[in-house]
Amino acid sequence: MSVWVIIPAGGTGERFGGSRPKPFADLAGKPVIVRTLEVFEQSPRIEGIVLVVHRDWREDYQALVAEYGFKKIKAVVTGGNTRTQSVRNGLAALAVTADVVMVHDGVRPLVTPGMIDAGIDAVKVTGAAIAAVRVKPTIKAVEPKMMTVTETLDRDLLWEVQTPQVFARKILERAYAQDGDGATDDAALVEKIGVKVHVFPGSYMNVKLTTPEDLVIARALLKA
Ligand code: C5P
Repeated sequence: MSVWVIIPAGGTGERFGGSRPKPFADLAGKPVIVRTLEVFEQSPRIEGIVLVVHRDWREDYQALVAEYGFKKIKAVVTGGNTRTQSVRNGLAALAVTADVVMVHDGVRPLVTPGMIDAGIDAVKVTGAAIAAVRVKPTIKAVEPKMMTVTETLDRDLLWEVQTPQVFARKILERAYAQDGDGATDDAALVEKIGVKVHVFPGSYMNVKLTTPEDLVIARALLKA
């Protein structure tokens, strides 16, 4: 089995603010994206990494790749206007030998080797597997005009989805052959082609850095 990972880091980070995109933010002495990449670089089960970056910051990413000496990064490709397009561009840069593809957001630096291993084991079940955790709060659906509750959702059925998400390459390519620009994760496209998606344990520590306070949380978690 040859496992490659696509790391989308091509967003503009509008919800994060700041003068540089969030993957460059400092997380205990290293940029966020470096922390993410290191976990995959050091995993013996990962053969190659495709890093997807924003076109305006390509040179800065390439400088980081050189500075930290990542050996498994086989391609740095430019992203698109949506996450879906960015991952699609990443797919096109995979080696022909890759038969399992993991997708992991560049802004989830606290992913662990254990999660990578669990994903690779779980993908054998149906060809599609995603990290997820049970939701902790009560979630309600709200009608946006009147701001009134329409439904209290059954918490026992709700899972917060994370990355890594892991797929047989053929399945992911078939999923991405569809028009899927509204999708917020890869599994949504795989679900649309009728493949059952298996869930494996993520972690509450595997936070996604979306808004500035997430960085404070990640720094504290890393310290702990
Ligand atoms: O926008 P969202 O928070 O879902 O982004 C998740 C990941 O996808 C981030 O690492 C971001 O950089 C990446 N992304 C991308 N290309 C886009 C939008 C987001 O690679 N056009």
